[in-house]
Amino acid sequence: MIELYGIPVSEGIVIGKCHLLDRTSKNIPRYSISEENIDTEIERFMEAVKQVSSYIEKVKLLSKNHLEEYHSFIFDVYLLLLKDDMLIKETCNLIKLEHINAEFALRKVSNDLIRKFQESDNEYFRERKNDLEHIVQKILNFMSEEQYESVLNIEEGAILVAHDLTPADVVQTVKKNVKAFITDLGGKTSHTSILARSLGITAVVGLADATLLISTGDILIVDGSEGKVIVNPTKEILREYQNKENRYKLFTDELNTLKDSKPVTKDGVEINLLANIELNYEIKVANEYGANGIGLYRTEYIYLENGNVSEEEQFEILKEAVITNGDKPLVIRTFDLGGEKISEDMPHTDEQNPVMGLRAIRYSLKYKDFFKRQLRAILRVAKYGNVQLMFPMISGMEEITKVKRLINEVSEELKNENISFNKDIPLGVMVEIPSLAIITHLIAEHVDFFSVGTNDLIQYMLGIDRNNEYVSYLYRPTHPAIITILNKIVKDANDNDTEITVCGEMAGDPLYIPVLLGLGYRNLSMSPALLLKAKMALQNLKITDCEKLVKDLKNSLYAAEAEEMLKEFFNKHLSNVDFH
Ligand code: PEP
Ligand code: MG
Repeated sequence: MIELYGIPVSEGIVIGKCHLLDRTSKNIPRYSISEENIDTEIERFMEAVKQVSSYIEKVKLLSKNHLEEYHSFIFDVYLLLLKDDMLIKETCNLIKLEHINAEFALRKVSNDLIRKFQESDNEYFRERKNDLEHIVQKILNFMSEEQYESVLNIEEGAILVAHDLTPADVVQTVKKNVKAFITDLGGKTSHTSILARSLGITAVVGLADATLLISTGDILIVDGSEGKVIVNPTKEILREYQNKENRYKLFTDELNTLKDSKPVTKDGVEINLLANIELNYEIKVANEYGANGIGLYRTEYIYLENGNVSEEEQFEILKEAVITNGDKPLVIRTFDLGGEKISEDMPHTDEQNPVMGLRAIRYSLKYKDFFKRQLRAILRVAKYGNVQLMFPMISGMEEITKVKRLINEVSEELKNENISFNKDIPLGVMVEIPSLAIITHLIAEHVDFFSVGTNDLIQYMLGIDRNNEYVSYLYRPTHPAIITILNKIVKDANDNDTEITVCGEMAGDPLYIPVLLGLGYRNLSMSPALLLKAKMALQNLKITDCEKLVKDLKNSLYAAEAEEMLKEFFNKHLSNVDFH
């Protein structure tokens, strides 16, 4: 039995069989190496070995905090294998002797070794077989440019274990009824994690070494509330978690009783709860949980799921969404593609820093025809319901002017083509880049609404990559800079009578909801799966207490100190909202 700890990103207790997503080389090519290229081939192999070694060293360091001493020895075994003459030197010898490529030589040498390990009388060696296989796969991985295994290959209902998953992968897991996934990489507000919460898939990320320690077929317990993963549990632990699974079910049953209740605070203030969605079917869930509308439709998932969709295809998908949503507001955000949200269909260049590169509105404005296709589809569906149009990653007035110009251009075209549409819809911008947050007082009169994207705003304000588990401890919504800027944005919006919503993950997190309420935010948009918990939290809070909390937070210089205050507040007012 091994216990691993990562970042809890999507609640739930799931017990099941693991499928390790094998994104390693399957078909090992064999080809000849000419005499004069032998040294280069050996260098290529040794370079891969070096890279794997430094990768393992890094993982070992990261694991120190969450792996018992007893288990961390596994990394020493890996490092020893990477220096082992029987594996490394023998592979080099074989390349030289048979004039074959490194991958094939390594496979051949390791197969022989694995056979020897298997046949050994010594239990220690027999157990090392899997370690050897893992490490060989890692070396092959570093040498290969082969296509990855698709998520669609996994068995129905398995727990997915992967080094990393893209948002597009997670969308696919739904088709395979995956109940939980765990990954080596990732952070709480990465799009992969957000998607897990939205789709109700239990998830733990940032485990660093899960794929090195877990094999397909292992029995896993994934505790998405604590961020804990137990591999091949004892009978006793299994029983303990079966009980916990049942208790979790009771907790969700209790939450479900809140579906029809009002999101009103203890002192009688009604909060407008909205939902963030990625796929159309979530609109029904949002309605069922009592959302007043959709505060954020991440349309890029239409693209990630369906490829390079035509105007007509987008029109059909969006029309279905508008009609399902009835007369409730539906905020359609234009594509936020780029960053990690990319697909093979997209023309994009390799960027060194994609999250600060050609992403969202920058991408759309570069590929104008592509963007116009989306704008046309949105204006066309706007006549079927209560549509609002929002733009991601706006950094200043220039982009707002450009998109307004494009809307006029598209409207003109539609008019000339005799295609019906509605152009008189509210236009809003995401406030998620510091440059815009700093000038919301200047921008407010030029837009109909603001929506604060705290996920990116925190990332860019604090200079913390929201997907990076190495710096996730620095991702702090309670940093005085964040409290100050959130305070400024809501004040600017209110002073100008501009609607304002928060649609980042803070809005759906009961720990931070009191902060937002205390600052004066009254419209919160979140993953549908978080709506009931948010409602429960609101019903336990008084605005006056939240305002007092914010007053204290404003005087706090240290993010850690502020976090402590928040936890204390949470324990005092909201402990029943948490599942233990
Ligand atoms: C945000 O950045 O807070 C946000 C809601 O947008 P996304 O998570 O899609 O980047
Ligand atoms: Mg964002």
